Amino acid sequence: MTKNKDSLTNISELGEFALIDKITENFDSKHKSTVKGIGDDAAVIDNGDNQNCTIITKDIFSENVHFDITYVPLKHLGYKAVIANLSDIFAMNGTPTHIFAGIAVSSRYSVEAVEEIYSGIKLACDKYNIDLAGGDTTSSKSGLFISITAIGNAKKENVVYRDGAKENDIICVSGDLGAAYAGLLILEREKQVFKANPEMQPKLDQYNYVLERQLKPEAGANIIKILNELNIKPSAMIDISDGLTSEIKHICKNSNCGASIYEEKIPISNKTIEVAREFQIDPVTFALNGGEDFELLFTINQKDYEKIKEVKEISVIGHIDDKSEGEKLIATSGNAIELIAQGWDSFKIEKQ
Ligand code: ADP
Ligand code: MG
Repeated sequence: MTKNKDSLTNISELGEFALIDKITENFDSKHKSTVKGIGDDAAVIDNGDNQNCTIITKDIFSENVHFDITYVPLKHLGYKAVIANLSDIFAMNGTPTHIFAGIAVSSRYSVEAVEEIYSGIKLACDKYNIDLAGGDTTSSKSGLFISITAIGNAKKENVVYRDGAKENDIICVSGDLGAAYAGLLILEREKQVFKANPEMQPKLDQYNYVLERQLKPEAGANIIKILNELNIKPSAMIDISDGLTSEIKHICKNSNCGASIYEEKIPISNKTIEVAREFQIDPVTFALNGGEDFELLFTINQKDYEKIKEVKEISVIGHIDDKSEGEKLIATSGNAIELIAQGWDSFKIEKQ
């Protein structure tokens, strides 16, 4: 690196995805066993087994970027760090089996605090039938980092990538969207109230649903099971960690297609709508741009529509179009609005 300082590029100018593209562009695959390397929710490795392949993913949680220790209980933090990884394995239509957990902890944290994080990791492992198979432990000069690697498997023919969506496929999402972001707004607001007046006791009961979605999310195991039982293999799938818009764009970019989604079809819980009203924000914005819902976004062939239309956990929200159509939101008014990603990007969103 011989560039002088003035000509260096600020990472925030690129953003997370362009940075990943840039730093990985010179890496070629050296092994035939690398079925899918960089560029999906998880990597797919042929382990020599005739039927099954191995699926691997990794996510880092960084203090004051992904979580704020003033309102996130440590146990929940451990739980959520595991869930975020399992979600990426489910997004490949895989079954997670093992995790490795790496932590870097500053001296601000006690042994009991780390144990508390691990009680959350254990809870997630027990609930999703996962073995903690290893990890790494080190110190940090500032804050806490949790890095989880999850490993799973899938039948080779069942793996679903981001790049298989075809024109006229139906776009579906699981559960409801925007709730985790609603929960985050409530927690941020209560933190400010508490800072201003530490005597104030927050009244949070009415927000239980959105707080739980923020603090104790779940991953899509049940959706994978339902799809399997219905004998549906999605043509493309991704988990919704950065907001619906960002994930639709990933599918369209990878599948070389366009998409239309319909505002009135986007599933949003009444509890989320109530919070959006309180903050005077359109609830659809929560679903489109909020993060961490850990629901699944997937596309299916039209022939599978009959099988899926009565499933209460799944909503049909739109269809895949030709690439020339771009990615659009059809508003309730009938207007088509281009989808512009403003989702979660840790380099572009500065939390105070
Ligand atoms: P997700 O949001 O599903 O966790 P990411 O956007 O983090 O996915 O990552 C997209 C792809 O880029 C994945 O294949 C991931 O493994 C890869 N990736 C992310 N960061 C790096 C990195 N620093 N080095 C190599 N590959 C990376
Ligand atoms: Mg993902």
